[in-house]
Amino acid sequence: MVRLMATEALVSVGFEVTEAADGEHALALFDRQEFSLVLLDVNMEGIDGFEVCRRIRERPHGKHVPVVMLTGMDDTVSIDSAYSLGATDFVTKPLNWTLLAYRVRYALRAAATMAELEASERRLAVAQRVARLGSWIWLLDEDRCERSPLCLELWRDTQPAAQAEPFGLLARVLSPDRQHLREAMERARAGEAYQMSFRVQRSDGSVVTLFEQALPVRDEFGRVVRIEGVTQDVTERELAEQRIRFLAYHDSLTGLANRQMFREMLEHALSRSRRIGARCALLYLDLDRLKRINDSFGHTVGDQILREVARRLVGSLRSADFVGREGATTPDEVVARLGGDEFTVLLTDLSHGEDAARVARRICDEVGRPLQVDHVELSVTASVGIAIFPDNGGDPDLLLQHADMAMYAAKQRGRNTYEFFTDVMQRQAVERLSLEQDLAHALGNGEFELHFQPQVEAASGRIVSAEVLLRWTHARRGPVSPVEFIPVAEETGLIVPLGEWVVLAACRQIAEWRSSGLPLVPLAVNLSAINFRSDSLLPAIRDALASTGVPPELLHVELTESAMMNEPALALEKLMAMKAIGLKLSIDDFGTGYSSLSSLKTFPIDLLKIDRSFVRDLPDDASDASIVEAILAMSRALQLGVVAEGVETEEQRAFLAERHCGLMQGFLFSRPVPAADFIALLASPA
Ligand code: C2E
Ligand code: MG
Ligand code: MG
Repeated sequence: MVRLMATEALVSVGFEVTEAADGEHALALFDRQEFSLVLLDVNMEGIDGFEVCRRIRERPHGKHVPVVMLTGMDDTVSIDSAYSLGATDFVTKPLNWTLLAYRVRYALRAAATMAELEASERRLAVAQRVARLGSWIWLLDEDRCERSPLCLELWRDTQPAAQAEPFGLLARVLSPDRQHLREAMERARAGEAYQMSFRVQRSDGSVVTLFEQALPVRDEFGRVVRIEGVTQDVTERELAEQRIRFLAYHDSLTGLANRQMFREMLEHALSRSRRIGARCALLYLDLDRLKRINDSFGHTVGDQILREVARRLVGSLRSADFVGREGATTPDEVVARLGGDEFTVLLTDLSHGEDAARVARRICDEVGRPLQVDHVELSVTASVGIAIFPDNGGDPDLLLQHADMAMYAAKQRGRNTYEFFTDVMQRQAVERLSLEQDLAHALGNGEFELHFQPQVEAASGRIVSAEVLLRWTHARRGPVSPVEFIPVAEETGLIVPLGEWVVLAACRQIAEWRSSGLPLVPLAVNLSAINFRSDSLLPAIRDALASTGVPPELLHVELTESAMMNEPALALEKLMAMKAIGLKLSIDDFGTGYSSLSSLKTFPIDLLKIDRSFVRDLPDDASDASIVEAILAMSRALQLGVVAEGVETEEQRAFLAERHCGLMQGFLFSRPVPAADFIALLASPA
């Protein structure tokens, strides 16, 4: 009867109702069909309402369905047991039918809210798991901590007794973090929020980094009653950060410290040395032939060499006696690559300057050993500059600058060696700077002049051509050698207009001689590799020839091996374009760079100029003699002309003439001379 009435009441307000006569029937229905809510009487035939409720709750799809039970009024015992079995709500008999519909509606709404909450909690749990985020609440009055399962998982294998204990997990925190965390917790109890990361040792020995944020919560009287917090595993993030930091502070090619890191380290080392009154040495190292190797063999080979040099540098320090001394860091940390082919080494706690010299010598020896790259044996050497703290400078920048100057001096002294910084170098550096500035104005001020050195036919002694050599007379210093100012012009870029000016001036000179009806020989101008690479060179040559009306046969060009061998394909194109203009091309200082035979064969070259260094010790030096003979034989085979440079003695001339060297040039015939003197030479009989 009650069931009938209830059905009636619910159907009339829009519910769909399925009836079951007893418990067994109800359970059978429940398994077949999905219900939003179950209305159960306690007293039924067969199994009673309690048992049905219990069995519904046991079923996987019955966990959350709202179960509303009908009990007798004041039957508190029934109510209690029904609750404990998982009933959602009660309706007491006798039933108020209107109210029943509301109770059912309410139970459905509550169930929906519950389901939503559960879903959102599940999502939160997933998010927390993904973020490796655990939460906890520290209840101050109870002196107890509630930690979420994930939170405990972050700590891994905690003792049950310690889990609820606010300070219970501190023992697992590594010091000095442990003390910091304890203090932060104490302050949180007094009302101060904290955020900190600390390292925790797990029972398996692994160490993780946890990050914790805590917020004190106050009651309406302003008393701190609890602290709410989250703890997160940030180990991976920290590793990523370390990696990023590593990349930012290291050279990716060699793995050594980079400039940035070296500077910071240097700063640190200097302030420490200042404090304890110790000395340091800064070694500044530059590879001597790397640029040439890069030009000839490409950058991959260059990179391999740099890596090997880095290894040798670290190696030569590892065996060194200073490492392991108090305060010294590991060699990897005191060796840096500043960029390009420049390295630095820092030696701390130095007792004598000579110790630095010993290390520098060892570095030169190590780096200078031949190395194998792609089955080719190559050798590079290092020039090392040494600056001592505090004698040569008190701050990192000055020390670096001075070590660099000393390195420069080592290069000047012939490479593969080291130099200590001296005050003279300081003066020279200042000098060079002023040279740079003066050079910038020299062209405009008309301070340059051309000199001419005859090139003589060996057989006849006739002057058949001349090399144009640039001369700079500085207003105050007097004559400055091109050996000194050409490199400066190359570094500052001034060589581009300067080289083009030489071409124009040479053409003008020819034009002038021509218009005066004087005898004419071709003039050979020197062009720097930078000119050769510059796009403005070819138009400048064409313009110079056109504006002066000089026939191109009267202009020769001298280029060095390194200028041509870098990017051979591009060089070939340029050389072809020069040939197309009608110029004769020679390779200057032949034998001092790296030329490949195949390039020599394919390049449209007319002449080889045997470098002075091979001629100087002729005829006595046997190896120079064989080199010169080999070059002569080769040029005959390749049908190239040859000029021997720097012929100073009659013996040298005889040696070369006997071996059919076509042309010679040198002080024996004439020094480079001004135009008027050269004309006089041309006119005088051979
Ligand atoms: P280079 O082109 O190899 O010029 C030959 C150098 O050897 C000249 O030095 C010349 O004076 C010197 N020399 C000639 N015969 C003898 C000799 O018998 N004994 C000795 N000891 N030396 C001799 P210079 O004029 O001082 O020029 C040096 C270098 O400067 C040149 O070497 C060249 O590389 C560069 N240079 C000179 N003028 C120019 C220029 O107009 N443009 C460019 N880019 N470089 C130039
Ligand atoms: Mg030359
Ligand atoms: Mg030369």
